[in-house]
Amino acid sequence: MPCRKVHPRPYLPPSSTEVFDREAHLNLWLANPRGFCAGVERAVKVVDELISLVDEPVYVRHEIVHNRAVVDALKSRGAVFVEEIAEIPQGALAVVSAHGAPPEVYRDARAAGLRLFDATCPLVSKVHLEVIAHAQAGRTVFLIGHRGHVEVLGTLGHYDNPAGGGIQVVENEQEAREVQARDPQSVAYVTQTTLEVNSANRIVAVLRERFPALIGPHHDDICYATQNRQDAVRVLCERCPLVIVIGAPHSSNSLRMVEVAREVGSAARLIESERDVEPEWFDELADVGLTSSASAPEHLVSAVVRRIQALSPGLVVRELGAPEALVFKLPSALVDMRARHPTFPLYARRS
Ligand code: SF4
Repeated sequence: MPCRKVHPRPYLPPSSTEVFDREAHLNLWLANPRGFCAGVERAVKVVDELISLVDEPVYVRHEIVHNRAVVDALKSRGAVFVEEIAEIPQGALAVVSAHGAPPEVYRDARAAGLRLFDATCPLVSKVHLEVIAHAQAGRTVFLIGHRGHVEVLGTLGHYDNPAGGGIQVVENEQEAREVQARDPQSVAYVTQTTLEVNSANRIVAVLRERFPALIGPHHDDICYATQNRQDAVRVLCERCPLVIVIGAPHSSNSLRMVEVAREVGSAARLIESERDVEPEWFDELADVGLTSSASAPEHLVSAVVRRIQALSPGLVVRELGAPEALVFKLPSALVDMRARHPTFPLYARRS
């Protein structure tokens, strides 16, 4: 996957904090990695740059990411969020969100003469390609994920073979025990990218027991960002009885991070902003963990840190773990567009 290095956040190993901890009322441990993943970073950048480049509304199908602060900020700059292509005027400029979309969205967009920029995360596109290959081979596909989630709806649409074994969503182990396949020798599975790793593995194990011929992806569909953020939560939980996750109640990867913390025995709070932080959460606690989901920008973390600092003046803030350094390339249509733009800032053309 194409990538370039980004500057890491400062990292202080835990031992370097011990001298401070003795005097602190509260240690706030910030997880790494946290916050925007490469897919979200890319999607937000696509919309942000289009707004800078054109003098017309930029329509976005579905929330570009599941985060109200990000969506509101883009709205205030000229993005218009819609649920259906039919809501977009003929010929307008439109963006498909990081979650991806079924093929009919692209067909409808072409029919409406839209100038479409695809911000589907490359890791979601990878799952689409797997489904297309299984459909061509006529296999029955089990899509492990949450029924109704926008990414799952997009992935389902890529099974385009009426003569094949079809595609069906499997949400849990019970459903894995009940699903049927037209030909048990010709079955495959894919997963939503933002699942909790262990529960997805349990569902796969049930399917594999029932369908020994089950084919899976060469590399897990659960994306690196989801896994890394969940692993970072587990590390936080080793020292923090309370973990605060900045995210959104309708964001799958936020909910999974909360689930992970609770599974390993820590209390977990999902918040959307610093306004949700309650003073009594910190009573009797020496260590609290803070992290943010793949769709939560870093400025929300800073605001939450300031809020906790105001509630607990003896607060010591420390980073734990190491950040990621992956950046996805922007769509080539956007790169071409900004290269042709006479006044687009040079510094922004380099990435
Ligand atoms: S969470 Fe993973 S799959 Fe989803 S946008 Fe981020 S990198 Fe892509």
